[in-house]
Amino acid sequence: MVKRGKEEGKKEEEKQSENAEGEETEVLTAETAPPILEEEKIVEVEEIKTIEKEEKTVDVSSWHPKTILGKKVKNGEVTDINTILDGGERILEAEIVDALVPNLEQDLLLIGQSKGKFGGGQRRVFRQTQKKTQEGNKPKFSTYAIVGNNNGMLGLGYGKAKETVPAREKAVRNAKLDIIKIRRGCGSWQCNCKTPHSLPFAVEGKCGSITLLLLPAPKGTGLCVEVECRKMLRLAGIRDVWSKAIGKTETRTNLVIACFEALKQTMDMRLQPEAIQAIGIVEGGTK
Ligand SMILES: [Zn+2]
Repeated sequence: MVKRGKEEGKKEEEKQSENAEGEETEVLTAETAPPILEEEKIVEVEEIKTIEKEEKTVDVSSWHPKTILGKKVKNGEVTDINTILDGGERILEAEIVDALVPNLEQDLLLIGQSKGKFGGGQRRVFRQTQKKTQEGNKPKFSTYAIVGNNNGMLGLGYGKAKETVPAREKAVRNAKLDIIKIRRGCGSWQCNCKTPHSLPFAVEGKCGSITLLLLPAPKGTGLCVEVECRKMLRLAGIRDVWSKAIGKTETRTNLVIACFEALKQTMDMRLQPEAIQAIGIVEGGTK
């Protein structure tokens, strides 16, 4: 009896699925369905754009600085971020960066993955982790944010919270506090054009098992790196790069940190003035 019941159930399911497929095809062939979907998508995109525009225009007038450096920036004693970064002072307020670096763009890196069946594991912005407690599972969300001005300034920050929005805010704030200058130039012997479209020399960054090597490339090469590193290099203002990664690069957090460390290395080398002229090295920039 049980077997028969199962078989009948299967047959019924098949019938249902057939019916469902038929319905789907009918819906798809209907003329009204696709335009409505397109309109919805367009509306969504427009909403996102307006939100981004609102975020870009940061209002510094309502800012009440707490640190000495913040008060100096508000008064107008410090007008250049290079003086802060070269002097080795620590930025403790994100508004300092907002005030001194115009055209600052922000982006989130895909370090997490979605859950569930049917090809779950798609890349997501937030990495979701859980803690087992007596009340049940307590989820937490973490993410990496990058900020940059497409002109030699870049920051990377990590944020973690019980919900997605505060995690993102923390990450963006940390990225602004951790902003660095980057040296750019044309270190490629094939190109030798003396414009800052690539790296001035090869640099290497490490994190965990990962070693990421970034090499200068001639104009038109593009960014031959993993996708998340490509976002970082683009926001830093680098357009052409070759790379070589060793280690477990599936660990995206370590890969991202290794890329940031490699870009930090561009500032560590002591250069002679002839070399700066020959390669056309540019340091930072807040235009
Ligand atoms: Zn070049």
